[in-house]
Amino acid sequence: MSLKLIDCHTHTTFSPDGENSPEAMCEKAIELGLSAYAITDHCECSTWFEEDYYREKGVPKSEDPFVVYDYKNRFYNAVNNISKLKFKYEGKLNLICGIELGQATQGWEGAEAVVSNENLDFIIGSLHQIKNHDDFAFFNYENFSISEIYNLLEMYYMEMLEMVKWNKFDVLGHLTYPLRYIIGEYGIELKNKVFYDIIREIFVTLIHNGKGIEINTSGLRQKYGSTFPDLKYIKMYHDLGGEILSIGSDAHCTTDLGAGIADGADIAINAGFKYLCYFKERKPNFITLMG
Ligand SMILES: [Zn+2]
Ligand SMILES: [Zn+2]
Repeated sequence: MSLKLIDCHTHTTFSPDGENSPEAMCEKAIELGLSAYAITDHCECSTWFEEDYYREKGVPKSEDPFVVYDYKNRFYNAVNNISKLKFKYEGKLNLICGIELGQATQGWEGAEAVVSNENLDFIIGSLHQIKNHDDFAFFNYENFSISEIYNLLEMYYMEMLEMVKWNKFDVLGHLTYPLRYIIGEYGIELKNKVFYDIIREIFVTLIHNGKGIEINTSGLRQKYGSTFPDLKYIKMYHDLGGEILSIGSDAHCTTDLGAGIADGADIAINAGFKYLCYFKERKPNFITLMG
């Protein structure tokens, strides 16, 4: 397979959990010879307002570095800077100014501001936490019964469907993200078929709206050991008529850039896809998976 690698989901120091500067990530992308490279820093709509807003509302300042308020300023900073880098690297790197829009359903004001920003090439719609709950990363799943875990997952997919029906992002980010922790970190076994119907409805809605999904390869280098989502769901999306499939490593540092992309491309081929795509000016560009 002679696919020229692309990586359409990555984070820089514009994300609270990103380790390397956008410039360092771009230099690495050039070194790897990526034919398209998207920076998609976090914008969590659930904490969109300025920090003053939360202070006035009496929201306590968290000690946790991952809980960052003031995504509003973060977002405009990130987009302004990445837009400038597109000019800096013109002719050397096909740089895509993207964003990972988290929890649109929990902050419509921020979500609408983000999707109307004309500097954005690409928007990944993600759900890291369900309403009135913490990020799935922070639960101690040993404290939950198996039926409580199924309930959490049901709420996750229901809120995801609500987000998908809103229909203002380009691809759905890392479907099945909670499994990174529930199965990967805690080794809890779940039955797959429980959520087939709702996942099918999510896919049918995306396809009807002309939107896509991503293969997020981060799970391949984590204990989970598979992509988000895995082959069976990518195949389900394909067999329902899905055509828009992006791919990303979800790298938060230069060493993970491009990680698992070749394996992810093989999964796409196994699921029946002939093309992957990256976005420019919010429009899909298809690249062949066939040599
Ligand atoms: Zn994410
Ligand atoms: Zn991400």
